[in-house]
Amino acid sequence: MASAADYGPFWGRALLAAACRMRGADLLGKLKEIESAPFRSPDEIREQQFRDLRAILAHAEAHVPYYRALFRRLGMKSQDIRTWDDFSRIPILTKDIIRENQPDLVREDVPLKSLCPHFSGGSTGVPLKFFRSREYMLASDAGTYRNLTQCGWHPGEMIAFFWGGNDKLYAMSRLEFEVRQIIRRQYQFDPFFAGEKDMANWEKIFARIRPRVILGYASTIARFASFLESKGKTIGGVKGAFTTAEKLYQPQREAIERVFGCKVFDSYGSSEVQNIAAECALGRMHINADFVAIEEDKAEGDAPRPFLLTSLQNYSMPFIRYRNEDCGYLSSDICSCGSNFPLMRLEIARTSDNFLFPGGRVVHGEFFTHLMYGSDGIVNFQFHQTAIDEIDLLIVPGPGHAAERQAKIQDSIRQIQAVTPEHPVRVNVREVDTIALSSAGKHRFTRSDVSADAAVERETARSNS
Ligand SMILES: [Zn+2]
Repeated sequence: MASAADYGPFWGRALLAAACRMRGADLLGKLKEIESAPFRSPDEIREQQFRDLRAILAHAEAHVPYYRALFRRLGMKSQDIRTWDDFSRIPILTKDIIRENQPDLVREDVPLKSLCPHFSGGSTGVPLKFFRSREYMLASDAGTYRNLTQCGWHPGEMIAFFWGGNDKLYAMSRLEFEVRQIIRRQYQFDPFFAGEKDMANWEKIFARIRPRVILGYASTIARFASFLESKGKTIGGVKGAFTTAEKLYQPQREAIERVFGCKVFDSYGSSEVQNIAAECALGRMHINADFVAIEEDKAEGDAPRPFLLTSLQNYSMPFIRYRNEDCGYLSSDICSCGSNFPLMRLEIARTSDNFLFPGGRVVHGEFFTHLMYGSDGIVNFQFHQTAIDEIDLLIVPGPGHAAERQAKIQDSIRQIQAVTPEHPVRVNVREVDTIALSSAGKHRFTRSDVSADAAVERETARSNS
């Protein structure tokens, strides 16, 4: 019997093309459109980026109430912006501004219900609500594919995708789930169910589907690699591992490379601004200049510079000079890998932990941040696991919305206790005025004193000192 692994590029690509047609999304066409962009000359890339920038500014001025008022207040028109210096006169967009002006930041020339709402814990700070369009999601997927091709992957070859599940996925029958994963050529492994038993099952699935690339949460892929290594196993046939969504530590990178026998490409994105940057085969991080423009904000001395991001493709809710609270450095060097997309270095701290529960289930921290999405009554929060069966939930309440807040908290407790019904964990809710930042000066939505992540951080600190 033919296994899924025998659907090589031809059949894999045919299945993928069929899946895309069913969804009405021409992903392969979009990939073709953008695949050569990194290989244009640096000048062409910069010029095209500025044209894209002017287009989104004109759109924002015409169709987004917040920006229309902003340009009026500044006494300028979007067409007056002819240089990057002119552009830097536009005030910075902060998370506070987004929270206070959210409805006015959405385009008004299309019905709201045609846009997809989304929430973000982001890597720091406060949960945000924002909107994206189907076209933007499609472009983002094509951008991810373009990134994967760097390791020699071909569309249609199986992707092992480590990403948090959702209610839609959990509602599927086993058969429907399997068929969708095989046709879409992307098999999902759920970091919210990531204990030893789950990982033993993942190992069996890997043998069956034989993925050619691995993509997803850095900490979960690294934990899976360590699990396999502890059993003396390695996995062949993987062309590249693409980590994202959280900080990748050097010991994690090395474990992934040892076990899967391939290079790790770390990448940088967020849900509100996707496909920001990705490492190339030479290990340098290139900004996807057709998706985003990055400026450096001011910082003291040699400290990493806060980034100001402008999304060039999200027309639903433009993010212009958005300070997402990540930091790093921009570089004017040209990389010898062939890509002329500009280079940057990212300096982010860990913001999410994996929680170990009674009975051995491991749950990625994003599970908890998802519980808090969509509540207007909560300004900030933190889940802090202090013991295997005890979590402190710190809440910074917002003005009003008290009943909604209480409902959200009670629902979260119920969902956390459903993780291990045979041994429900105790959740202590405390309302506080502020939540202390980590030693790296970042807010952490999730902290666990009993997870394996703390050991990785300690080891990294030791090897760096
Ligand atoms: Zn490069």
